Amino acid sequence: MKIAENIQKIKQDLPPGVQLIAVSKTKPAETILEAFAAGQRHFGENRAQELAAKFPLLPSDIEWHFIGHLQSNKVRFIAPFVSLIQSVDSLNLLHAINLEAGRNQRVIPCLLEIYIAEEATKAGLSEAEACRLLESDVYRNMKNIRIEGVMGMATYTDDVSQIRQEFRMLRRVFENLRSAYFSNAETFREISMGMSSDYKVAIGEGSTMVRIGSSIFGERNYI
Ligand SMILES: *Cc1c(COP(=O)(O)O)cnc(C)c1O
Repeated sequence: MKIAENIQKIKQDLPPGVQLIAVSKTKPAETILEAFAAGQRHFGENRAQELAAKFPLLPSDIEWHFIGHLQSNKVRFIAPFVSLIQSVDSLNLLHAINLEAGRNQRVIPCLLEIYIAEEATKAGLSEAEACRLLESDVYRNMKNIRIEGVMGMATYTDDVSQIRQEFRMLRRVFENLRSAYFSNAETFREISMGMSSDYKVAIGEGSTMVRIGSSIFGERNYI
């Protein structure tokens, strides 16, 4: 029952209103069930086909978050059931999500992934690109998506002050976008930031959602 203990320990660090997303990528259904038995309901996955394969094996009251790079042609695998797509990094992808959501007669909540790290390998939109997306007619005409906030990943470094600065930047982007485009929409409220190594810093900077994998499930074995 190590998983249950890990979840309890992390939850003690979370202020009220901060959601814990258990990142279960690469982990089998049995492992996810262990976390479910400990009361965890929000899980994060980063591959569309892996998530689509796990979905029918697990309880239907799980809320599935998609947190990885998503190709437009893979959206259909998760569109029927996904709770929140956190990693929208282009208007094209948002368009594909809107289309598949319509086919499933639903609205899919999304976050815009914002680029805040120093590393060129990390994905996401700049603030200017996010503004352009939100100002486009294509976006304004979408009926089957709802943008609920932003997501970001800090640089992988021991330098806490750098991580703090990057999270602070994400919060500032969130506030700028909210006041420019969502001033009377209470649905724009999420700042998804913080992973196993940096979630305490993220909470200090206003995170509303932490995405934690290895501190719950142990190290991942990539094949
Ligand atoms: C894997 C992953 C996480 C969780 O990382 P840990 O270091 O295992 O907590 C969080 N966010 C994203 C986008 C990920 O891909």
